Amino acid sequence: MNLSYWEIKSWLSNIEFCIVGSGIVGLNCALQLKAKFQKAKILILEKGTLPQGASTKNAGFACFGSLSEILDDLKTHSKAEVLQLIQKRVKGLNVLRQTLGDQQINFKQLGGYELFLNSNQTLFQDCISKREAINTWLKPLFKTDVFSIKDNSFNFKNINSHYVFNKFEGQIDTGKMMEALLEKVYFKGIKILNNVQVEQFLEVANSVKIKTNQFEFSASKVLIATNGFASQLITEHVKPARAQVLITKPINNLKLKGTFHLDKGYYYFRNIDNRVLLGGGRNLDFKTEETTEFKQTTLIQNHLEALLKTTILPKTAFEIEYRWSGIMGVGNQKKAVVKQLSTNVFCGVRLGGMGVAIGSLIGKELAELV
Ligand SMILES: Cc1cc2nc3c(=O)[nH]c(=O)nc-3n(C[C@H](O)[C@H](O)[C@H](O)COP(=O)(O)OP(=O)(O)OC[C@H]3O[C@@H](n4cnc5c(N)ncnc54)[C@H](O)[C@@H]3O)c2cc1C
Repeated sequence: MNLSYWEIKSWLSNIEFCIVGSGIVGLNCALQLKAKFQKAKILILEKGTLPQGASTKNAGFACFGSLSEILDDLKTHSKAEVLQLIQKRVKGLNVLRQTLGDQQINFKQLGGYELFLNSNQTLFQDCISKREAINTWLKPLFKTDVFSIKDNSFNFKNINSHYVFNKFEGQIDTGKMMEALLEKVYFKGIKILNNVQVEQFLEVANSVKIKTNQFEFSASKVLIATNGFASQLITEHVKPARAQVLITKPINNLKLKGTFHLDKGYYYFRNIDNRVLLGGGRNLDFKTEETTEFKQTTLIQNHLEALLKTTILPKTAFEIEYRWSGIMGVGNQKKAVVKQLSTNVFCGVRLGGMGVAIGSLIGKELAELV
């Protein structure tokens, strides 16, 4: 397809910043750049009709780590690193709420619960024995105890009679958050072109030549925010990690309210619009789930459904309405990769399972590199 003179002049000329990816990171990066360089022409390229990675697919937990996750992270990261991860998530959530407003994203601080399977009493005992030490360690940040103990008031089955409760945890409406972000971006005069996939880029003199599946053009600077798809364009260590989800039809008098982590966070569920959203199960087949292909597997979907029947809603009739998957970007460290790759190319990728929490901040940090 040959583009017209007008198309080239209005959409693809004098681009100061080209952002690849319209997820939480790409959109926040664009907003920050616009605030700093008000006259700059900013173009976002997105391969999907909608953002097509994790930002419109996630579970909408506004969380910063369950007790078992923090204890687990302390085995592979230093104390200072884990504290920094938690601080970043808390700060990132504040940036998200300040940028868009609690009402716009339907933020509700209903609290988060960690549940322990009856079959894993060792994990429960380990968490309970270290709870007070972790609370003391986190006190300078939260000013009060983060983790308390609650009875199994939701009557889940096959789990320990006590939960670990985190009163600071919240939830958002993921769709509303992305709608609000996109509206803000359009309002600032930033252009987004959908169904355009960046295939290659080449740094030449003072600009970057960009080849897409539709056309070629140049930009002064390129910012890559493609998370789980990053290794298709750059050589940073980011592995794709698919995560599968299902949601029930509305359930009358649904009692369950809050965000719930089960089995070291391998499963997570929450209430939304009188429904239960449940995701997880990557640990059943890590190898198959290391992919950028959007698909559901029988193994994981059957397991999620069984968990609903036996544990989460043992006495409630339900039907599944939708099932989907999203692609995360992970690595052997939990820290995101935010860096300059060459003179005019930058990246902000590898957000793991915490992009709702840190995405706004990573977008800001990416923009600050320029
Ligand atoms: C099922 C699921 C549940 C989750 N639950 C939570 C949660 O409850 N709380 C939480 O904090 N985090 C959660 N996450 C993680 C969170 O959603 C992500 O960390 C976050 O959305 C990452 O944002 P991003 O902008 O970096 O990446 P993405 O949202 O993946 O955006 C990257 C974009 O780049 C586009 N792209 C890729 N390659 C190209 C290319 N070559 N050309 C053009 N465009 C391209 C993609 O289409 C995509 O839209 C979850 C993730 C999943 C999948």
